[in-house]
Amino acid sequence: MPSLTVRQKLEILADAAKYDASCASSGATRASNGKGVGHSDGTGICHSYTPDGRCVSLLKILLTNFCTYDCVFCVNRVSSDIRRARFSVEEVVTLTLDFYKRNYIEGLFLSSGIIQSPDYTMEQLVQVAKTLRLVHHFGGYIHIKAIPGCAQRLIDDAGLYADRLSANIELPTQDDLVQLAPEKKATVIEGTMGQIADRKAEVDEDRRKLPSAPKFAPAGQSTQMVIGATPATDRDIIQRASTLYGGYKLRRVYYTGFSPYPEADTRLPLQATPRMREHRLYQADWLMRFYGFAADEIAPESDPELNLAIDPKLAWARRHPEFFPVDVNAGTREALLRVPGLGYHNVDRILRIRRYHKLSMEDLRKLHVRMKDVLEFVVTTDHLPVATLPFTTEQTDRETSDAEFAALPPAQPLAGLVAAQQMDLFAAAAQSAATGVL
Ligand code: SF4
Repeated sequence: MPSLTVRQKLEILADAAKYDASCASSGATRASNGKGVGHSDGTGICHSYTPDGRCVSLLKILLTNFCTYDCVFCVNRVSSDIRRARFSVEEVVTLTLDFYKRNYIEGLFLSSGIIQSPDYTMEQLVQVAKTLRLVHHFGGYIHIKAIPGCAQRLIDDAGLYADRLSANIELPTQDDLVQLAPEKKATVIEGTMGQIADRKAEVDEDRRKLPSAPKFAPAGQSTQMVIGATPATDRDIIQRASTLYGGYKLRRVYYTGFSPYPEADTRLPLQATPRMREHRLYQADWLMRFYGFAADEIAPESDPELNLAIDPKLAWARRHPEFFPVDVNAGTREALLRVPGLGYHNVDRILRIRRYHKLSMEDLRKLHVRMKDVLEFVVTTDHLPVATLPFTTEQTDRETSDAEFAALPPAQPLAGLVAAQQMDLFAAAAQSAATGVL
């Protein structure tokens, strides 16, 4: 094979890294016209978000796209007929520093195919991070892949030099791995996640006693799951994610929809996974992490696939009409978080405001809450939903239309409604006294 220039290797290995969703590219392809400055299509540069919400640009590459494994869904598998390339440790270090000094990037995302053995591959990845940190005093962000099955000493070293580590779970179930990634085992991948979680817990404990002790993977660990390559249901996927979050304290699970490619293995589907499925899974993931929903509530056994037409929170609300309406002025934080249309920031604002002021619909409007989303589910000082659930089966499968929203009875003063209900009770009692019928 003719030797490749660094530029050629960069083209191959940045392209091969784009399938890892652990940090997402902006996807923009606007090119410079030769007069101005800037080129949004810089090879290997992607954007990612730090835990505090900052957007950072990263050099996202593979050390090599050679791989001894044969995961059917992966373009880099050993049986794939693609151009191969491999960077040396020094080349990755030099590229990272050059890009960083030119202000193209703020960090590095480095992954790799598995060459020789998990230990050998991991040693190379750690060497890149170690050289950047110790030799060049690189202070930028570093995310490196943890190769499942590598030795604990390599994980310990990796966490000293990298901000984030991630071991990919690849597919939702062990059966899926047997079918499509025969060399991979869920127990081995989870073993590596466990090594990272345990080491991080140890170091964090040490740092509580001695704050100057070195940090270990301060941005935590994440993983990626390919969805739609196997018949695993959304329930399987969400439950798997929930177990990983609980067991290994993951910061994020990334879901990547499978895309078919020419001459793919016949075990793979011919259709791409709908983008909306990926989106609904991220919404479900968000509900588990920030809204107190259990995986089983989002995708129960009786309804194992997420509804692509409505978000999973609205779907849950429609399955549980007995839970609503929730009184904005009295409901617990947990109850308010379950109201469709109320995000957790607004729930916290509501809890603060209601200490000194009872909220009306106008107050919700001022908080930029979408009236259409909450109207059916909340009680305020001036609103009691009249047309509350139950919905017809057909309505539960989609959002409320503008026409249905417009046809809902107008908000009514709550005091008047309560008074009217009390009058009805008095009338019923009077009638019962007159007729003797209870
Ligand atoms: S181990 Fe990773 S790089 Fe290698 S074939 Fe499997 S998914 Fe692809």
